[in-house]
Amino acid sequence: MQYYHRYIDNSRPIYPSGKVVCVGRNYVEHAKELNNPIPSEPILFMKPSSALWPLELPIQLPNYANDCQHEIEIAILIGKKLVNAKVDESEAAIAGYGLALDLTLRDIQLRLKQQGYPWERAKAFDGSCPMSPFIMPERIKPLLPCDFSLYINGKIRQQGSMAQMLWPVAELLAHISQIFTLLPGDVVLTGTPAGVGPLQAGDRLLLNLADRYEFTSQVIG
Ligand code: ZN
Repeated sequence: MQYYHRYIDNSRPIYPSGKVVCVGRNYVEHAKELNNPIPSEPILFMKPSSALWPLELPIQLPNYANDCQHEIEIAILIGKKLVNAKVDESEAAIAGYGLALDLTLRDIQLRLKQQGYPWERAKAFDGSCPMSPFIMPERIKPLLPCDFSLYINGKIRQQGSMAQMLWPVAELLAHISQIFTLLPGDVVLTGTPAGVGPLQAGDRLLLNLADRYEFTSQVIG
């Protein structure tokens, strides 16, 4: 399925999707909960565009894993090409803010990590990146640094603030662009706060950004 990034009110043209560059351990409390050291530079990995999935459609749990976990993350839509970019240039290239789930097959990821193998089987599978529509930067900027949260079946599971990021968004984009060219339609996932855990068939999800924007989803088995 060719995925197109959208805006919440269809107020701007849609973008064809590109790659998703993800940042690991950008929140200290999440690194601690998985017994991971605090990194000295951002940990980067990627999901292909085939991982993208509209957040509002049901999430299908892969049948070859036993522990599919939620990681709510701020998603940044790239609107301009960034190569070896400075921080201010990176800031100006942000075309939207949204929320995404970095779905992670934790049982498979742990096995791959122990073997020293790449993580893609655990994090880059089809549908592993449920993505909200985006909100224009001019609407989010007055709310920054904003809080975001994930509720499952009415109970809060993850809560974070962009103020808690080890590397702020524009610095992350500048850093990533030294290694991977960021193109319009690419997305950067900025890491997850503490509270990750397993999803179960039947779960109902509510994702909240800045107490202003809400997105819902559900899990099917
Ligand atoms: Zn993540």
